[in-house]
Amino acid sequence: MSFDSLGLLPELLRAVREQGYEHPTPIQIQAIPLVLEGRDLMGRAQTGTGKTAGFTLPLLQLLAPHASSSASPARHPIRALILTPTRELAMQVEESVRTYGKHLPLRSTTIFGGVNINAQTKALRAGVEIVVATPGRLLDHQGQGNLNFSHLEVLILDEADRMLDMGFIRDIQKIIGLLPAKRQTLLFSATFTDDIKQLASKFLKTPATVEITPENTAAELVRQVVHPVDRERKRALLSHLITSRKLQQVLVFTRTKHGANRLSEQLDKDGISSMAIHGNKSQPQRIKALEDFKRGAVRVLVATDIAARGLDIDSLPNVVNYELPQVPEDYIHRIGRTGRAGTEGEAMSLVCVDEHNLLKDIEKLLRKALPKDVIQGYAPDPSIPAEPIQTGRQGGGRGRGPARAPRPSSGSAPRGERGRHPSRTSARGK
Ligand code: AMP
Repeated sequence: MSFDSLGLLPELLRAVREQGYEHPTPIQIQAIPLVLEGRDLMGRAQTGTGKTAGFTLPLLQLLAPHASSSASPARHPIRALILTPTRELAMQVEESVRTYGKHLPLRSTTIFGGVNINAQTKALRAGVEIVVATPGRLLDHQGQGNLNFSHLEVLILDEADRMLDMGFIRDIQKIIGLLPAKRQTLLFSATFTDDIKQLASKFLKTPATVEITPENTAAELVRQVVHPVDRERKRALLSHLITSRKLQQVLVFTRTKHGANRLSEQLDKDGISSMAIHGNKSQPQRIKALEDFKRGAVRVLVATDIAARGLDIDSLPNVVNYELPQVPEDYIHRIGRTGRAGTEGEAMSLVCVDEHNLLKDIEKLLRKALPKDVIQGYAPDPSIPAEPIQTGRQGGGRGRGPARAPRPSSGSAPRGERGRHPSRTSARGK
């Protein structure tokens, strides 16, 4: 299957060629023709499947006929809105819009919180066809009269499950209430939970469904291994693995922000350059950490799940689960940072006795047992009993069993990093 057979414009095919893509991914093969037909769509796919190009390419094509090279703002009304849960994802999606749309005269911008609003206001006033936004800041702009959705044709909800997890449902409903009823709506989500189905039944019209299951995505390309180890020896084992295997670019996941900071400091002490990225870091700090990591100035990036969500780091060779995630789906998101579209990667999980239930849940989701490899000198001491998992905070959670503390609710985090508080709108506008 080649891109040529998908019915895309020459300008888009050229951009795709320039990216070096040879073949469309399964989600692209399925989604692109449906979106071009004008259908509403529910896509079950996660990061790493090529879903962004799967919706961006046909979106650009739908908007291309009335694209104008005039400088007048009136010739550039908002015609598409892409909502994402986090600023990082918003930035990456917009980067894709620019990349694939570089031979078309369409304009795009990002709208997210945590940064000065004025530059965004200026971009909106100058006229822009495609807005990629997180919900909270978008509503701030609405409040300031910066948005006119009367020409909107397409709405895309990206990582809708995560937006619901983060408590954005009311904001999303409010935003959709501002949009013309006659529009095309696409919803992408890693899972189709009841909440997602309900959202879709409310806002999508007889949608087509496209499902890419974990089995045929990144998870398949990633070599996965579990290194059993004692709780207190994880840090030493991590340093040992990085040093002895000469790992150069390692993304390490911790469960809490505090844990990320502490681990990063300890790695530095071990002579391994690292940075932490999480919700308490300012936007410029996060961007800098990511850039330093991408260009190789920093060897290890320690991240929490929400901070790492949607990070697009091409061909990342190593992902380490320093602590297993509370929610099994997050494991798939994490390892999706490696083994992207065609490249192989390795995901190592350092698992202590406290995490055996979490590991079981993950293996159930993957429908396979992960290979275990005890590293010499780091064999777990079987006399150490399991302890409840520390998540750093109380509150929220999915009503899991007693050995599993709830997910952190991070109520004080900046917008786009909030916990599972349905009432988060009340905390907006800081
Ligand atoms: P996504 O799932 O949208 O986050 O995309 C994952 C990665 O795959 C990104 O780095 C894309 O640049 C890359 N990608 C998307 N489509 C293709 C393709 N058809 N061939 C190769 N790489 C691709």
